[in-house]
Amino acid sequence: MDMDKLVSLCKRRGFLFQSSEIYGGLNGFWDYGPLGVELKRNLKEAWWRDMVTGHDELSTPPGAPQAYEMVGLDCTIIMHPQVWKVSGHYDLFCDYMVDCRESKKRYRYDQVRGRWCEHDGKRAFITTMAEAGHEDEETLAAALKFFNLRSKKADELKWGEAYLPLPQVTELSQVLGPDAKTLGTLTEPREFNLMFPTTIGALAGEEGKAFLRPETAQGIFVNFKNVCDSTRVRVPFGIAQMGKSFRNEITPRNFTFRSREFEQMEIEFFCHPDSSREWYQYWRDRRMKWYTDLGLSSDRLQLREHHADELSHYSRGTADIEYAFPFLPPGEFGELEGIAHRGDFDLRSHMEGKLVAKDGKLEVELGADGKPRHRGSGKDLSYRDDVTNEKFVPHVIEPSAGADRGTLAFLCEAYTEDEAPDENGKMQSRVVMKFHPRLAPIKAAVFPLVKKDGLPEVAQEIYRGLKQQGLVAFYDEKGAVGRRYRRQDEAGTPYCITVDGQTLTDQTVTIRDRDTLEQTRVKVDDVVSEIQNRLR
Ligand code: ATP
Repeated sequence: MDMDKLVSLCKRRGFLFQSSEIYGGLNGFWDYGPLGVELKRNLKEAWWRDMVTGHDELSTPPGAPQAYEMVGLDCTIIMHPQVWKVSGHYDLFCDYMVDCRESKKRYRYDQVRGRWCEHDGKRAFITTMAEAGHEDEETLAAALKFFNLRSKKADELKWGEAYLPLPQVTELSQVLGPDAKTLGTLTEPREFNLMFPTTIGALAGEEGKAFLRPETAQGIFVNFKNVCDSTRVRVPFGIAQMGKSFRNEITPRNFTFRSREFEQMEIEFFCHPDSSREWYQYWRDRRMKWYTDLGLSSDRLQLREHHADELSHYSRGTADIEYAFPFLPPGEFGELEGIAHRGDFDLRSHMEGKLVAKDGKLEVELGADGKPRHRGSGKDLSYRDDVTNEKFVPHVIEPSAGADRGTLAFLCEAYTEDEAPDENGKMQSRVVMKFHPRLAPIKAAVFPLVKKDGLPEVAQEIYRGLKQQGLVAFYDEKGAVGRRYRRQDEAGTPYCITVDGQTLTDQTVTIRDRDTLEQTRVKVDDVVSEIQNRLR
């Protein structure tokens, strides 16, 4: 699929707009338009319903060690700054960046790639930020400019074998920055914290300093005790939260895939240490199935277990659910969700203070003065089982998903070009967004074939009937009916209901199926329940 076509459809039909577009946009920030907001809401509602409100806590789900409870939370975006010191985000949530002294641009160190190039005894490492597959055009243009050659002479350039990431190149003085004209303008890499700082109230300096949360998870950990004390949940149980997170990504890219403001849907599942491996397996499989149930094709999805050397020091296992986004080179996948076995790291940190690994064990990190570098809350966050009377710090399995990356994957998956007959029965090409009915922004559209003979009145009645059942419906009486179908195909509306001449004689209307194009006649009185049944 051509990503440019999807991006232009998203703008044209109101799925996604660049934030603050009339002022030139803001890199890494995106707004959801009228169709996009419904799509993303449907995705979030499907997650909340399937994971929380619709979860049956009385029976054991397939693959789970036992039945369990799920509850929700909605925590603030700005939290006590100590939370981020203890969680490790303050010290460790960094990427390396390089600045270009010439273009004044900033790049993520590991994302700058390039190739060695030689001409006339002169050698330069020509870099680019182009997406994979597009590097050749950019590096060639940059090299021709740098060596002052016309494009006819491109053959005279001698290229190094492969593209290398900048961290593999030690001679920064020979590097031509992605937007530079001269060599050696990139600075040495520097650490850059991805948390957005902000200030609380009128306090100056360190005292009022706070951060926008870079993940929703910490709100759950710090409320663990509150949830246990205020509800009757018993381990094993999960707490879910969705909401905005912020990361000052150095190079946001690939449409909404890497944004600076995005929404997460996270679960922290608390269980007994002895059964945590089984719960980890359960959640990996459960979350993978959720995406395929909603229509992501299993050929484009993969569950990738991290190698031991990729794991964070506290993690006993992490798997990513990844999707073959069309903007990635063939064979490459991008993360939709991570499922991590986090042991007791988080609850212990919030009790004792920031933990570090020492000889394979977690210990409170000490400062030069021998005191904890970042103090924990000092509160007891362990759990006592009221039946066995056992006291322990629960282990945590964390399925952490991105609502925007999910929405993007479903947009990519839905985009289809095929053919459908026009009014005269002639096949015409069409663009159709094949969303799962649960995700489709509009569930049904209602058309009177013509704007007379009482057809609009019947159509409006059906439209109101759908709305009364809480279904997002759309009424359209403008233009040729074929064009109205096309517009709904692009919006991904699963069903179109048409009121025509026959309706007046036999009280039936047609329902057209977006994917099969089949048209069936249904009684006017039954059409709302028929749509409800089909959506189910
Ligand atoms: P990446 O390696 O792609 O930066 P990550 O491993 O840092 O992601 P997590 O910290 O595990 O991501 O966050 C959980 C989920 O939140 C991700 O799987 C993704 O869906 C979403 N997410 C994280 N960062 C972003 C971002 N910058 N833009 C959009 N979604 C994001």
